[in-house]
Amino acid sequence: MPIFVETGPMFSGKSGAVVEVVKRRLIGGQIAGKDFVVFSHQSDNRYGEGIIASHNHERVVAIPRTTSLGIMSFLLNLPENMPDLHPGLIKPELKNVRSLIVDEGQFFDGKLGRVLTAIDTLWRLMGKNLEITVAGLNLDFRGEPFPTMADVLSRAEKVNVHVAVCHVCGENNATMTQRLVDGQPAKWSDPVKVVGADELYTARCKQHHEVFGKPILTG
Ligand SMILES: [Zn+2]
Repeated sequence: MPIFVETGPMFSGKSGAVVEVVKRRLIGGQIAGKDFVVFSHQSDNRYGEGIIASHNHERVVAIPRTTSLGIMSFLLNLPENMPDLHPGLIKPELKNVRSLIVDEGQFFDGKLGRVLTAIDTLWRLMGKNLEITVAGLNLDFRGEPFPTMADVLSRAEKVNVHVAVCHVCGENNATMTQRLVDGQPAKWSDPVKVVGADELYTARCKQHHEVFGKPILTG
């Protein structure tokens, strides 16, 4: 029924929160793929494909998807034409799922919020509760909202905003993700999603967050 969001900058414990949700369910005797389903984004292969790891090296196996519709088609039998919402669409073997977890929500396309809302509605039509947890960065390295997460956050019933320790001043108030390229702050004009570049991320407070060439107003 509710949508929970775990958000904040990198190194703030978002993946750790996801691992805790999964651990609690495993301790409760629940089974992955039957009682709960964990999705990650295919592009996040830092720990191997489909692996979510907290920074204290606890790991959870997730189902890698590249699109929001990929999450939907895992759970539902979807005919060619997108039909009206009906619980008969839910795959019979997944009708007892109580919890969905999506990690790295910011990597997904803009349909994620609508897909999760539709899934939530289907479970309610079936007369069952579904707990949906999304973890993801609220802001990119420039300090601008990730549109997918902005949409998901607006739909959430509960939001945990995590903070990290600032890499510069050591205060426990870092809300920003700092991208460094060759040790220097990345430029505003750099692409938001970079794969395989020689870069480094750290967490910083607003005071110490730097972006080269940041305009006063954007858009
Ligand atoms: Zn600082």
